[in-house]
Amino acid sequence: MFAMILLTGATGYIGSHTWVELLNAGHEVIGIDNLCNSSEKLLARVESITNIKPNFIRGDIRNIDVLRKIFQSHNIDCVVHFAALKAVGESVEKPLEYYDNNINGLLQLLRTCNEFSCENFVFSSSATVYHTENNPPYFENMALGPVNPYGWTKMMSEQILRNFEVASLSTRVAYLRYFNPVGAHASGLIGENPLGAPNNLMPYIAQVAVGRRELLSIYGGDWPTVDGTGVRDYIHVVDLAKGHMAAIDYLTQQKKSLTVNLGTGVGTSVLQLVHAFEIASKKKIPYEIVSRRVGDIAVSYANTDLAKKLMGWSAHMGVDQMCQDVWRWQSNNPSGY
Ligand code: NAD
Ligand code: UDP
Repeated sequence: MFAMILLTGATGYIGSHTWVELLNAGHEVIGIDNLCNSSEKLLARVESITNIKPNFIRGDIRNIDVLRKIFQSHNIDCVVHFAALKAVGESVEKPLEYYDNNINGLLQLLRTCNEFSCENFVFSSSATVYHTENNPPYFENMALGPVNPYGWTKMMSEQILRNFEVASLSTRVAYLRYFNPVGAHASGLIGENPLGAPNNLMPYIAQVAVGRRELLSIYGGDWPTVDGTGVRDYIHVVDLAKGHMAAIDYLTQQKKSLTVNLGTGVGTSVLQLVHAFEIASKKKIPYEIVSRRVGDIAVSYANTDLAKKLMGWSAHMGVDQMCQDVWRWQSNNPSGY
């Protein structure tokens, strides 16, 4: 077990669920977030789930003085790095902001890790790093080739970390490539809370179900898939959070780096997800099929053997559970936090 874990992007969607799991497992955690895509109200929710007051600093990871202060006053020996901008479409419109936030933020963190000899790093990578010409399922050793600035920031971050590992010798990194995180904590107290119109499918469906949006646009009904709609590998966010715990255990015990997919290995189409959500929520989800979204691919899902082999971790929850948990969160919190 580490002395103290620094969680960046701690009040965000995946960060908050991971925070809960880490605290419940007895880890000491300090969270940092600049709240550009999250709310401080989350902190009270984490406390009511865990009975532990979360240790939180509001700050930007690009500010090295803020990072130094944290490392000076806490014995941080592991960083779990979630803080990033993540909207694909926005990254095409604002590439410089994405490179500045995601790359510069990583550089300041690594400089600080170097200064304070923090040797363990868990990085939020993404399935978007895989070249779209690979045939799913995606294996970790397949060709990489992102198609948008967001994806490039993830691939470049992986590369920066790999170079840093070579130079610093004692640094170990868990490169975790997430597929499609959805779901919410079983308490219904925390969940995904997009600001503005959701870009992703699950939060959009949930907002239609709760009456915040009129109808779902399905991007394409003529993909070469089971029912013509896009197929993705949806993974429950709590399973994903547990994948981080498994990665932390691996770094502590094996003292080696690893690169693994975090997915379920199961593909689900848009229409299959809509129907599962209708059953979970007992609501009709009106939808229309519109033209394909630029940059979309037909099918993406993971091969998950390596995560199982190296970390003994696999996802347990299926799409029905994901929908039930999202519905509990969304119906209890129709306007978010
Ligand atoms: P999120 O937006 O909910 O959380 C990210 C958090 O980081 C937010 O709370 C935001 O305020 C914070 N943040 C951003 N820039 C910051 C900065 N410079 N300084 C301090 N805080 C900053 O996103 P999420 O879904 O929880 O994603 C977490 C990580 O996982 C991201 O790195 C994302 O790229 C990666 N990821 C997400 C998905 C997904 O579909 N959700 C898939 C693959 C990878
Ligand atoms: N999708 C959709 N309508 C939406 C949002 C997404 O039909 O409002 C589809 C999208 O085309 C893809 C799937 O749902 O086939 C998952 O999209 P999401 O943006 O959630 O994840 P990603 O495409 O980044 O894997």
